[in-house]
Amino acid sequence: MDDRTIKPLYLKNSDIQVCESKRITDYELMDYLSRCIGDSLHCLQLDRNLWRIYVKDRDSRNKLLNEGLDIQNIAVSFYDTNPYSSGATDANQRPLKLRISGLPLSVDDSAIHELLIKLEVKLTSKILYEKIRHPVTNKMTSVLNGNRFMYIEPLPEGRSLPRVNNCAGLRCLLFHYGQPKVERKLLCTNCWKTDHTRSNCKNEPCCKVCKDPGHSPGDEKCPFYEHQKEITPFSGATDVLSNFFPCSMDLYGVQHKSAEHAFQYTKAVRCGDLNAANSIKDAKDALSAKRIGDKIKPNEQWISTKSKVMEEIVENKCVQVPMFKEKLRSAKRNTLFVETSHNDEWGSGLDREGTLYTKKNHWPGKNTLGSIIGKVADKVRKRKKSDQWSKPKQKQLSKETTNQRDIVKMLRDLRATSDSDSVTSGQNDDTEYDSSD
Ligand SMILES: [Zn+2]
Ligand SMILES: [Zn+2]
Repeated sequence: MDDRTIKPLYLKNSDIQVCESKRITDYELMDYLSRCIGDSLHCLQLDRNLWRIYVKDRDSRNKLLNEGLDIQNIAVSFYDTNPYSSGATDANQRPLKLRISGLPLSVDDSAIHELLIKLEVKLTSKILYEKIRHPVTNKMTSVLNGNRFMYIEPLPEGRSLPRVNNCAGLRCLLFHYGQPKVERKLLCTNCWKTDHTRSNCKNEPCCKVCKDPGHSPGDEKCPFYEHQKEITPFSGATDVLSNFFPCSMDLYGVQHKSAEHAFQYTKAVRCGDLNAANSIKDAKDALSAKRIGDKIKPNEQWISTKSKVMEEIVENKCVQVPMFKEKLRSAKRNTLFVETSHNDEWGSGLDREGTLYTKKNHWPGKNTLGSIIGKVADKVRKRKKSDQWSKPKQKQLSKETTNQRDIVKMLRDLRATSDSDSVTSGQNDDTEYDSSD
């Protein structure tokens, strides 16, 4: 069956030359190809550095694309489209490669087919098995590494598949090009299950702590009910401990209306969104600043540095806002500060009542902000007597960030970083990230 609608495959000649003096001939390449796909080879032509390879059936084409070829001990990969043409091929028509990792080899292909049906994607190839490659030469061995890959019809614009999936009752990870690097897990804030959101929840409301229905966190019925005596809960714009408390503070030479403004502004700048940064600076209150900041897609750098930034902000607030400093100074030595506005990352994940009456090791949140404030409070107490801490720490901070003063330059650098990120994104990135930023 000679199908003329089958597109050619491409191979860069430079990819298969072992040395300049010995160039591979069409006869030699034909020989290598025939050993892999038999007499399915139809035409082989070299145009400058580019080989065009026409085959007679789709299976052979897929086989070459998926498995590559071993030529003089070099593992060679073929191109699905002309690697030198700039956008001549409609990228939307190209099949999308999907990789699944984390599944035991014993899981049957039929379970993967079920998962793909559930995800509403259409396979255009078989399910294939990845092989271990030599770390330097990239040469493929005959040993499987357990990962599966396959090609599917391209997804509609804007759609991507979830990173974490369940296949045959097992958790597995799914990767494809164009998948957002940072993925938010589904979480229902009504029943706290992780496979749907509140808007399509059909369950009774459940307790966020024990996940049972019929009561709220902090209720005596909750198995984790206990009065927490040694804590200092805080939240909201009227509480000086809260980031929402209106106060004028300077960070990296920029004046802010609250610690929250400072935090969201830094996020915007570090994630390369100068417009958002300006809107945050002008936002009338902390909540408005947070809302703008929440819309900014965080980059890896921000995710890995934001708690350090938060610490700097709290320290600066302590130096610049006397009321805040006094609150920390006068707090009981063994108290645990805890943010109580339902935030799972910065706070206990519960409200004030829920926090006060739930065993602290069962709070759903990490209370990162509470811990930071505790750390700064310790420093304040240590310096209580000598009180050498009234000099703003700003000097040291600005030294650290001198090169960031020039926002234009910084944005340029950041864009360059995130551009190079996006090229390599998608395939090997196992990062999961599920909380607010
Ligand atoms: Zn639910
Ligand atoms: Zn409960």
